[in-house]
Amino acid sequence: MTRIISLLNQKGGVGKTTTTVNLAGALALQGNKILVIDLDPQTHLGLHFGVESESASVYDLLMEEDVTIQDTLLVARENIDLVTSEVGLAAAESELASKTDRHDLLSRKLAPIDGKYDYILIDCPPSLGLLTINALAASKELIVPMQTHFLALQGVSRLFETVQMLVGGLNPGLQVTGIVLCMHEKNTKLAREVVDDLQGFFDSSRETAVPWKNCKILYPPIRRNVKLAEAPSFGQTIFDYEPDCAGAKDYRKLAQSVVDADPTKTVTVEVEVKSEQVNQIPNDAT
Ligand code: ADP
Ligand code: MG
Repeated sequence: MTRIISLLNQKGGVGKTTTTVNLAGALALQGNKILVIDLDPQTHLGLHFGVESESASVYDLLMEEDVTIQDTLLVARENIDLVTSEVGLAAAESELASKTDRHDLLSRKLAPIDGKYDYILIDCPPSLGLLTINALAASKELIVPMQTHFLALQGVSRLFETVQMLVGGLNPGLQVTGIVLCMHEKNTKLAREVVDDLQGFFDSSRETAVPWKNCKILYPPIRRNVKLAEAPSFGQTIFDYEPDCAGAKDYRKLAQSVVDADPTKTVTVEVEVKSEQVNQIPNDAT
C-alpha cells in the first residue's frame, strides 16, 4: 500500500522542501519506490533535484481534464519519480475556485497509480489555500516540518485545528504522523522548552479522537547543517552532495523513523514504549 504523505506548514522557510527531497532520497536508497510532487509555485523541489520541467506540470494535471499522472512523471533519481510545479501554479488558487470538484482533483488524478509507489511525498506551498486542500484530501498522512521557535506550539496546534476544519469532512482518515524539527540548535534552553511543550501537547492528545493523537516528534531533530543549504544550488540531494555529513546522517535516521511510524502497521504495546523512548531528544544528537 502506498503511503501518501503531505509535508505541510503554512509558514515558508521551515524546511518543507529540504525534508521532502532528502527524506525521498533516504527512502529511495533503502530501495523504496518514491513519487515526489511539487505543489508549490516556487518550483523549488524540481530545482533541488536538478530536474528541469519538460513535460506537463502539476498545474496541467489539476487544470486539464485529459492530462493524466503518467503524462507528468519525470525520473529524478533511481527509485524517485517527480511531478514538477510551475510558476503559473500560483494562478490555480483562483482558477480552481470555480470548479465544483476543486477539493479532490489531485486525489482523483492519483487514484490510477495507487500501489505503484511505496511513498508519495507532496511538498505543499506555504499557505492553506486550495492547493494545500487538494494535497490534504489526497493524503493519508501529514508530516509537519518546523523550527523550534518561540510560539512553535501555538503555531502547531492552530495548524492542526485548521487542518481538521478544512478536511475533516473531506478526508476523515487523515492522520498527523509526526513533526520534524528542522535547523535544530541542540542544547539551547529554548529548543528544550519547545520540545517539552510539544511533547506535553501530543501526550495529552493520545486518548482523544483528533487526527494528531498518534503524532510523534520524529527522531532525530535535523541539525542546522550548511551542507543541506548548499546542496540545492547544485541540484543535488544531500546524498549526492555530501553523503557522510551530519545532514545526511540525520535524514537517513529520520527516514527510518518515518518507516517505523507507518500507521497501517499494528502497534503493540512494546513498539509503543520503544517509540516513546526514541522520541526523547538526546543532549548530543550526533
Ligand atoms: P520551505 O520549503 O519550508 O520553505 P526550505 O526547505 O526551502 O523551507 O528551507 C528554507 C531554507 O533553509 C533553505 O535555504 C534551506 O536550504 C535551508 N535549510 C533547511 N534545512 C536546513 C538545515 N537543517 N540546516 C541548514 N539550512 C537548512
Ligand atoms: Mg519549499
